[in-house]
Amino acid sequence: RAKREGRARVCFFESETDQELRDRRLLQHDLRQALEQNQFLVYFQPQARMDGEVIGFEALLRWNHPTRGFVPPDQFIPLAEENGLIIQIGEWVLREACREAASWPRPLQVAVNLSPVQFQAGDLERSIHQVLLETGLTPTRLEVEITEGVLIGDFTRALNLLRRLKALGIRIAMDDFGTGYSSLSYLQSFPFDKIKIDRSFISNLEATPQSAEIVRAVLSLAHALNIPVIAEGVETEAQRAFLAHEACEQMQGYLVGRPDLIERYLDLVGVTVERRLYA
Ligand code: C2E
Ligand code: MG
Ligand code: MG
Ligand code: MG
Repeated sequence: RAKREGRARVCFFESETDQELRDRRLLQHDLRQALEQNQFLVYFQPQARMDGEVIGFEALLRWNHPTRGFVPPDQFIPLAEENGLIIQIGEWVLREACREAASWPRPLQVAVNLSPVQFQAGDLERSIHQVLLETGLTPTRLEVEITEGVLIGDFTRALNLLRRLKALGIRIAMDDFGTGYSSLSYLQSFPFDKIKIDRSFISNLEATPQSAEIVRAVLSLAHALNIPVIAEGVETEAQRAFLAHEACEQMQGYLVGRPDLIERYLDLVGVTVERRLYA
């Protein structure tokens, strides 16, 4: 939650013990070396149409800590946001993801998560522009995923930045839709290119009748606004069938594929084994 709450982030750590606090400081210290010591990896998770046709990938950051092994992003990203390192780390993810996508024979999309901190500080527009030039990726193939945390704080500044990003040709997706306080009101402020229904609604589809109604309502709202929807965390055929029946456009989740090194998905991006070996 902390990543979405901007200034309210402090509350996230309120109930922690001294041990947890020490541990957090240790991790934060290790984070400072992680970039230069090549401990980060970018995983890719497929995004598909409801018939299973893969149309793109979301880039998801992984930290392979020298002694702890893989630390989940939900644990270290709030720390990197707290000390500002997310600006450099986020730029690294963006560059890696764009470089990778630019090398694919098939012109699939790549989606990259942006932290609210990257919006507040630094020169995000310039750095995205720079990465696009450097990697040669066609801007329309890049989608950035933002949460409502981006629009909390200096709303006007964030909105202007979003407009300038869109003017570069890149697409803007609203991530984790339905979990924040005011996702709805943000839909009237900015023409998002995609809505990502949060995984929590999808995973409760079978167990909770309310979730099915919420998903239906989000789809009908999005369709009225002409915004395509992708469902996050689709794990079962029953979930896929429900979403397809409700005219959801796209899905992402273990049913299609888990986040992994791009090596696992080379056939999907159009790279033959020979081509990769001799490239
Ligand atoms: P997100 O952007 O909403 O990403 C989706 C998360 O759901 C990922 O968790 C993904 O592994 C997980 N997921 C996808 N399909 C399924 C499924 O079928 N079942 C289940 N149980 N989970 C599924 P992950 O990779 O642990 O990332 C967590 C969050 O960390 C992301 O949520 C995103 O907010 C953040 N994050 C990851 N990479 C980056 C990054 O490069 N920059 C920033 N700022 N945030 C990142
Ligand atoms: Mg995302
Ligand atoms: Mg999400
Ligand atoms: Mg999430």
